[in-house]
Amino acid sequence: MTVELNFTHEASRRSWVESANEPTGDFPLQNLPYGVGLVPAAPGPRIVTAIGDQVLDLAAAGEAGLLPPAVAAACREPALNALMGLGAPAWSALRARLSELLGADTCLAGPRRTAVERCLVPAPLTTMLLPARIGGYTDFYASIFHATHVGAMFRPESPLLPNYKWVPVGYHGRASSLVVSGTAIRRPQGQLKDSAAEAPVFGPSRQLDYELELAAFIGPGNALGTPIPIGAAEEHLFGVGLLNDWSARDFQSWEYQPLGPFLAKNFATSLSPWVIPLEALAPFRRPAFARSAGDPAPLPYLADPANQRLGGLDLTLEVFLLTAQMRTDGVAPHRVSRGNFSVMYWTLAQLLTHHASNGCNLQPGDVLGSGTVSGPDRDSRGCLLELSWRGTEPLSLPNGERRGFLHDGDEVILRGYAERAGTRRIGLGECRGIVLPAGP
Ligand code: CA
Repeated sequence: MTVELNFTHEASRRSWVESANEPTGDFPLQNLPYGVGLVPAAPGPRIVTAIGDQVLDLAAAGEAGLLPPAVAAACREPALNALMGLGAPAWSALRARLSELLGADTCLAGPRRTAVERCLVPAPLTTMLLPARIGGYTDFYASIFHATHVGAMFRPESPLLPNYKWVPVGYHGRASSLVVSGTAIRRPQGQLKDSAAEAPVFGPSRQLDYELELAAFIGPGNALGTPIPIGAAEEHLFGVGLLNDWSARDFQSWEYQPLGPFLAKNFATSLSPWVIPLEALAPFRRPAFARSAGDPAPLPYLADPANQRLGGLDLTLEVFLLTAQMRTDGVAPHRVSRGNFSVMYWTLAQLLTHHASNGCNLQPGDVLGSGTVSGPDRDSRGCLLELSWRGTEPLSLPNGERRGFLHDGDEVILRGYAERAGTRRIGLGECRGIVLPAGP
């Protein structure tokens, strides 16, 4: 497990890129997330690292001889897949080198710093793309609070199905409709049926929702037929980002039986551009969620003392809403919820190991969605379905507007960060998407 602390985590270290030393910024020297973007004067997509309000072009850094030879070729690719496939020792070597190159104490003013400066680009001049070619996308359901709330609405007599505490429930999502933050989302059309109506109709969704989730990116992965033991699971976790699993609740309730989510989910899923390396999150590890007395212990293939001790992540995750009216009035986005990833019933390692337990092969760049991150409190519910209790208790916004579900023109903004006394705060950036009216 990548939980050992090293010099890249030292809270006192500063970058010579001054904007990275702003205490509330997302991208200090201790973060060093990876993404892919178009930068001025480069012919195609480049792998970049965020540092303060700048990005470092890793292809350019490799060409300048600044990167370890073992990773330089992977850093010249137009997506992160090759780097993801190299594995944890290579990721650590690259992170250590970037921390040296950008550290005020390790890269003094001189020819080397000048060479690094030549690879920096102001972040606003960069157009961020999806970080990887994503071949497979699976979405889990790992918050027992979310599962219980949703179950209570649809099956009041048995909110939590009997398999929940035994098996990390998930479904295969659609990789082709994953989009990067900032992509507008067209309200989908589909079959919906009012409970009183005899037959469904086809039309724009009236119950469009978001889901606040964490995305985990797969590293080397496994050969078909070869499971990944729980003790080795984190060697296959490259890093995490934010994910919005847009959901049409009316399509969902009509179509989900017997095979699960389909067109209610696959019209669009938004991803944040930055992937935070798992190593950057080492200071924010926590014990796995404490199961209630009487809950079954995980089956042996999902049980690991190290994962129980430090398999959780102390990540604060927030959702903000910006309506068209608020935009017109120049009002800041309103925070509608704040939760923490440490309440998830299953750890990322358990999700990954379960996914591969039948021999299913995971590949570099595949994405595992955690499922909606909801906690026990009302304030920590990660979707409108729960916040408005299926539209029956609409959310009141400060300007008097109300929301049961999303309106056209609403922008949903996910943010995340890790913060702990004695450590440097690091952020996940943002995942944004604005709802466009349904097409013709
Ligand atoms: Ca979901």
